[in-house]
Amino acid sequence: RSWWDHVTPAPKDPINAVTEAFLADPCPYKINLGVGAYRDDDGKPVVLQCVREAEGKIAATNFLESTCAAISSKLVEESAKLVYGEDSDVIKEGRFAGVQALSGTGACRLFAEFQRRFYPDSRIYMPDPTWSNHHNIWRDAQVPIRTFHYYHPDSKGLNFVALMDDVKNAPNGSFFLLHPCAHNPTGVDPSDEQWQEISSLFKVKNHFPFFDMAYQGFASGDLERDARAIRIFLDDGHLIGCAQSFAKNMALYGHRVGCLSLLCDDKIQAVAIKSQLQQIASTIYGSPPIHGMLAVSKILSDPDIKAIWLKEVKVYFSSFSFLFHSLFTSIFIITCIRTIGLMHLLIISTCYKDMATRVQRMRATLKEALEKLGSPLNWQPITNQVGMFCFSGLTPDEVDRLAKEFHVYMTYDGRISMAGVTTKNVDYLASAIHEVTA
Ligand code: PLP
Repeated sequence: RSWWDHVTPAPKDPINAVTEAFLADPCPYKINLGVGAYRDDDGKPVVLQCVREAEGKIAATNFLESTCAAISSKLVEESAKLVYGEDSDVIKEGRFAGVQALSGTGACRLFAEFQRRFYPDSRIYMPDPTWSNHHNIWRDAQVPIRTFHYYHPDSKGLNFVALMDDVKNAPNGSFFLLHPCAHNPTGVDPSDEQWQEISSLFKVKNHFPFFDMAYQGFASGDLERDARAIRIFLDDGHLIGCAQSFAKNMALYGHRVGCLSLLCDDKIQAVAIKSQLQQIASTIYGSPPIHGMLAVSKILSDPDIKAIWLKEVKVYFSSFSFLFHSLFTSIFIITCIRTIGLMHLLIISTCYKDMATRVQRMRATLKEALEKLGSPLNWQPITNQVGMFCFSGLTPDEVDRLAKEFHVYMTYDGRISMAGVTTKNVDYLASAIHEVTA
């Protein structure tokens, strides 16, 4: 008998399973729509200019321990400014406990552990659906999980009434996990007014909002705009928790840079909470790696590099994106050259390749292509939804047919990663989707 007879394979991660099936397919025109990482229009991973600039500057950094601790607190400080606002009282008064974390996953895991230690009888309420790993993270931290209504399959939008009911019916003082923008996997976010109502009800019910901010900048291309849900809660005087990831908005997946911050009543509380978070981290993984942290810290604290980053995630001209796909393209370009000059137009066109814009452009193109094919289904949600993902409403059978007959791979919940859609494959993808849904 072996020591390990009783160990059976763990269930496959749904996203890794898609990648495996994609890699095993020899078809030259296969498409991977499972991956949650940004790709350029050639389907290639991207290194942002701001990252290149930052890496150039940190190349000569002396990795002394004391330097690292100082830079790590710089990272935490700058990350907190990004979510809570440069001028917020929380930042001015130092009323938060923040620690560097192993990207968004690590930040969630730290918080789940913290929750179990200090609120051992509590549960976590998470949206249905949510990123599948949220369930694994809180399960492994032994925090009981409940779900709340979020997505309405018929409208392919938010089920706001049911959501509010669930918030109301949860016991007072419950922990809630919220996606502040670019909800994964649905791409459906509450409006500002709805966030306001949610925040007011949280106040009445004394619930704790924990925001998982994995995609700041991906919903609108504007980091401030994407933090609005959190600012609404902040204005209402909530104490908030927030997990931040720089994996997507700096395209730094492999470096695992993130931050966990918890708002506190005062500085004394902040010191106590920070020490507890550090202690939890030290027993799980010691300390996080430093290279990515140095790069992020440089991007956030060097005004010139930060400006490049903001530009890289910003949507330029998004409201005019349809023009690039219409008969009026050439007229439009000539008019632009006349009015703003060739140089400006070239700059704007370069910006056009930026992350959030490319994703938005692909949404519009995919929807148009499906409509042109005469699909009787309503594809409006493709452009209504925001962020990296599109919750298409495709059934598991249709997803299966897409893989087997058309070499198009996505998770069984019908989630399309828009980053995998390019100008070269969008028409083929539209006809494949049309075939399986017709
Ligand atoms: N939270 C959400 C909602 C996500 O979608 C993801 C990644 O897909 C994460 C957290 C984890 O991101 P990271 O790669 O930073 O760990």
